[in-house]
Amino acid sequence: MSETVYNFSAGPAVLPKEVLRQVADELPDWHGTGMSVMEMSHRGPEFMGIHAQAVADLRELMRIPEHYKVLFMQGGAIAENAIVPMNLLRGGGHADYLVTGQWSARSAKEAARYARVNLVADAAKLPAPHRDGETGAYTFVPEQSQWRMSPDAAYLHLCTNETIDGVEFQRPPSQGAGPADVPAGVPIVVDVSSHVLSREIDVSRYGCLYGGAQKNIGPAGLTIVIVREDLIGRAHPLCPTAFDYKVVADNDSMYNTPPTFAIWVAGLVFAWLKRQGGVAAMEARNIEKAALLYDYIDASGLYENRVRRQDRSRMNVPFFLKDRALDADFLKGAESAGLLQLKGHRSVGGMRASLYNAMPIEGVRALVGYMKDFERRHG
Ligand SMILES: *Cc1c(COP(=O)(O)O)cnc(C)c1O
Repeated sequence: MSETVYNFSAGPAVLPKEVLRQVADELPDWHGTGMSVMEMSHRGPEFMGIHAQAVADLRELMRIPEHYKVLFMQGGAIAENAIVPMNLLRGGGHADYLVTGQWSARSAKEAARYARVNLVADAAKLPAPHRDGETGAYTFVPEQSQWRMSPDAAYLHLCTNETIDGVEFQRPPSQGAGPADVPAGVPIVVDVSSHVLSREIDVSRYGCLYGGAQKNIGPAGLTIVIVREDLIGRAHPLCPTAFDYKVVADNDSMYNTPPTFAIWVAGLVFAWLKRQGGVAAMEARNIEKAALLYDYIDASGLYENRVRRQDRSRMNVPFFLKDRALDADFLKGAESAGLLQLKGHRSVGGMRASLYNAMPIEGVRALVGYMKDFERRHG
C-alpha cells in the first residue's frame, strides 16, 4: 500500500492528523495528572474544564446565540429520531417532515411511533426536475412551493445534508407569512450530522439542530444537540429522563456519565478548527475541494453524479461508473493507491467520496488523479 493514505469514509470518518498525534501524546498522562482522560471522574475539575472549553469553542465556532442550549448526549442521530418528538411535540399531536433522502425518511418513520407525521413532500415520489420523467431516487430538494405544510405543526423536520444520497440544502428554508413559507411559529428541526461545521449555519433560523459526532467532529459516541431554550421543558412523561433536553441542560450534560473520551477529542477538533481560521475558512476550502471532484466527474465520460447541481453535497459525493462491471477493479486499484473506503452505501451501490473538514485538498487531488488514470485505462 502507498505511504500516504486518504480515508473517504462517510463515518466514522477521517480526523485531523494533528489531533490524532495530540491524542496519542496526551493519552497516557493528561497534562501531568498521571491519568488519561478516560480514567478521570467526569465531575473532577480536569474533565469539567475540558467539557466547558469544548462547549465554549463550539459556541464560538457556530456563533450560537445565548438563548440556545448546547447539549452533549449519546445515542447518535438515530436515537434523536425518537428523542426529538418526545421532547418537541410539547403536548401537540403532529409534526411535519420533509423527505429528501434516506436519513430524513428514517427520521419520519421513527417519529411516526410517537407523533402523527405529515410528510410535507417526499423527493422520491416527485418527478425529478433535472432528470426527465424520473422518480424514485433522492436527487434533489423539492421546491418549497411543493411542500404541503400544516400551520399548527409542533415542528418541521429536515435533514440538511443527506449523507447517503449526497443532497444538501444550500440555504435555510424561508419562514414567514408568504404562501410557500414555513409558517412563522413553527420551529425548524434539522439533522446536521454530516455537514455541521463544514459551512456557516445560521443557528437562529432553527429551533433545534442535532448530529452524531462521527462524521465531521470526532469519535462515535457523542451526539450534539443545540436547542432553543423556550422549546424545552415539556417532554412527554414517558421520555427517558436521561433524554429529556431540560434535564440534560439543567445538569450541564452530566445527568448521566457523558462520553468523556469522545468529548475530549471533539474539543481538540474544535481547537484545531479555530487554528484553521474557523468555519468560514473551512467552508471556502470545502467549496474548492467539492468543485475539484464534481468538475472532473461532469467532464468525464466514465463517471456520473445524478444529483441536481444546485443541491449537490459538498461533504458526500456519490458517483457511479457508467460501466458497473468496472466497480470492483476501481475499488481495488483505489485501495492500492491509498484511497480508502470509497465504496458507496450498500443501498445505492457505486462509489461515495466523503470530503469532511479533515480531508485535505491533496486527498481530493489524489482521488481525481487516480480517477483520470483509471478512465484512461478503461474509458
Ligand atoms: C450517520 C447519520 C445518521 C445516523 O447516525 P448514528 O450516529 O448512527 O445514529 C443520521 N443522520 C445523518 C444525516 C447521518 O449522516
